[in-house]
Amino acid sequence: MRKYHIVTIAGDGIGPEILESALAVLARVQELSGEFALEYEEREGGAACYERHGVNLSKESLEACRTADSVLKAPVGLPWVRYPDGTEAGLLGGVLRNGLDLYANVRPVKLWPGVDAPIKAKAGEIDYVIIRENTEGLYLSRGLGVGNDEAMADMLLMTRKGVERVCRFAFEAARKRSGSPSDGVRRVTCVDKSNVLRSFAFFRRIFQEVGEQYPDIEQDFLYSDAAGQDLVRRPWRFDVLVMENFLGDLLSDLGGGTVGGLGMCPSGNIGEGASYFEPIHGTAPDIAGKGVANPLSQVLAAAMMLDHLGETAAGTMIRDAVWEALVQEDLVIQASGQPRGGSRTATEAILRHLRHGVGPQREH
Ligand code: NAD
Repeated sequence: MRKYHIVTIAGDGIGPEILESALAVLARVQELSGEFALEYEEREGGAACYERHGVNLSKESLEACRTADSVLKAPVGLPWVRYPDGTEAGLLGGVLRNGLDLYANVRPVKLWPGVDAPIKAKAGEIDYVIIRENTEGLYLSRGLGVGNDEAMADMLLMTRKGVERVCRFAFEAARKRSGSPSDGVRRVTCVDKSNVLRSFAFFRRIFQEVGEQYPDIEQDFLYSDAAGQDLVRRPWRFDVLVMENFLGDLLSDLGGGTVGGLGMCPSGNIGEGASYFEPIHGTAPDIAGKGVANPLSQVLAAAMMLDHLGETAAGTMIRDAVWEALVQEDLVIQASGQPRGGSRTATEAILRHLRHGVGPQREH
């Protein structure tokens, strides 16, 4: 029996509700597989933790995340819990991503069946991954901006090491995929603003240098403003996209909007050793406690975690069950981003479709 030590962070707002769904799915998958076991260690983190203890994540909890096999994290943060400088106190992005040097933020954007998406496309016709640089760029300035009441500046920093490793990660990711849905070409698109900013010209130059080592993968280039349009106008041509931290934050939410909302979008934060997996969305305080949140983002984040641990058959089992639940049950993900019938109905539908080794085994 393979054993994995997993830290869980239930977070704030809808966090605990959707984490409960993901844990229920993981429990059933372990039962069906019989080949691996997840041992959990719950850790407090986020806005409520800050209110209770004056820190959003204790040093011990950060160490627990570092030494665990992986971390399954629900969203954290509440807009009304803030530091004196006006920024939010509950967010863990800086603490975990920089603290654990998790340089690649992997954000799959995929159109699933049964989703009332604003884009006219069939399920699977949109299927790309945004690789967002996670440890530098504009967000390195988090909490470090300088200025006064008249002016304020944040710095955008890119290093050769930082850009090289995230570009390499993107080309490696493309090698493991089967190309863009429209033409099957394995392609990495460099999204930048190199027409204006020297830091982005530096990013593009390093992207090209790294890309030369991957002659089997097409190099593609788009300015970020044009990328905003193309992700809506012709998303099917994308396979893997790589970009700076702030741009990746914005464009992956845009991508989420095209495939039925953020509730369909999981993500992974990956470094050389540690990792954590979470939805890309926030704590949705407007719907917390109402039982209407879409748990799929957290369930799919759990599947990504299993893939990362090497339990790819189990990860595929979850994605197959989500696919089947969306095809066979009355589980429309409505335009609001919420599943018809609420979170519990969605979770039960997925549990019903978990099967051992007999799923459609699609590449999701
Ligand atoms: P949000 O992502 O929480 O919500 C945006 C909209 O999407 C809301 O209308 C919400 O109801 C909806 N939504 C989000 N997830 C959903 C789901 N699973 N099912 C159905 N609808 C869903 O963004 P926000 O309101 O800007 O932020 C709320 C809080 O979350 C803030 O404190 C913010 O800083 C924090 N946040 C945390 C993370 C994280 O922990 N990784 C990420 C983003 C935002």
